[in-house]
Amino acid sequence: EISLKEQLYEILALTCSFYEHALRQPTGQAALEYAVHKRGLDQATIQQFQIGYAPAGWQVLYRYLVEQKGYPASLVEQAGLIVPRNQGDGYYDRFRDRLVIPIHDPQGRVVGFGSRTLTNEEPKYLNSPETPLFSKGKLLFGLDKARHSIAKQDQAIVVEGYFDVIALHRAGITQAVATLGTALSKEQVRQLLRYLDSKQVILNFDADKAGEKAAQRAIGEVADLAYSGDVQLRILTIPQGKDPDEFLQQHSAQDYLNLVTAAPLWLDWQIQGLLDTHDLSQADQFQDVTHKITALLGKLPSATLRSHYIHRCAELLGQGDTRLTLRLEESL
Ligand code: ATP
Ligand code: MN
Ligand code: MN
Ligand code: MN
Repeated sequence: EISLKEQLYEILALTCSFYEHALRQPTGQAALEYAVHKRGLDQATIQQFQIGYAPAGWQVLYRYLVEQKGYPASLVEQAGLIVPRNQGDGYYDRFRDRLVIPIHDPQGRVVGFGSRTLTNEEPKYLNSPETPLFSKGKLLFGLDKARHSIAKQDQAIVVEGYFDVIALHRAGITQAVATLGTALSKEQVRQLLRYLDSKQVILNFDADKAGEKAAQRAIGEVADLAYSGDVQLRILTIPQGKDPDEFLQQHSAQDYLNLVTAAPLWLDWQIQGLLDTHDLSQADQFQDVTHKITALLGKLPSATLRSHYIHRCAELLGQGDTRLTLRLEESL
């Protein structure tokens, strides 16, 4: 008696090989060219990440898995690979004419796929739906390949995209993983912490509005771990609105690691963000910032840290004005 999950693993592994093979067929040529020329991937990287191509027809995978291999359509549907038609009977392939990137669990088993359009179709990325094996708020892309390095470097770097992870690993920065289009959940951080001694997690989301919002949301999600010091969360923002993949096309791995070293702790990042977006010479904005900083610092459980930040903030707000220090201390 094989369990449902075991059957799904089997179907997904077979599908991964099918897509990899399709990338080497004449019909996969445009996808291979995209991977090699547009994304700068070499053959070794394509193999390492098992990148493939989902053919353009409506039932190519369906025919292979259901008609040729004899898997029940309902199982293939539960694996997230085919979708029942809205009208009438039958199924169609979820991924069509896309570059596919398998997503593995930490043990290296394929549990789902990400896919990118080759023709600027919407959506740009299409992922597996939630399945018994695939849960996007829990999984981290690349963790199977990064976990040893995370333990060894005692540091994890979390980025937004598949291609960011791939570019970082190619540059030798193998402690990188990606969220799957979500912010970064407590569960994901807990998983990373299992490999870490000094609890260092670097969050490097895209240097755009969406990336900044996702970083704020992530901080909110893991705030209790961050405040208690159970994670040392630092926020890296690449200058000039780039993501790690774009940055590494023009800069060296060492340039990136320098950014990692310089990345501020999450609380400093938030305080700096408040200062950058308010005009302190305006009384109302000054008051607003003071309130918000007070709210941030008020949750710090350590008196030592609180006092450190109070003095720092007083300096930042009013050139070390002692009355301001007192005010911050009083309001906490
Ligand atoms: P590009 O391939 O153009 O470099 P990117 O990887 O930089 O794209 P972003 O738009 O920055 O893509 O998105 C980052 C990540 O967010 C993607 O890798 C993907 O995991 C996820 N994502 C983006 N758009 C979607 C979407 N429409 N649905 C699901 N996930 C998405
Ligand atoms: Mn983005
Ligand atoms: Mn991006
Ligand atoms: Mn990108």
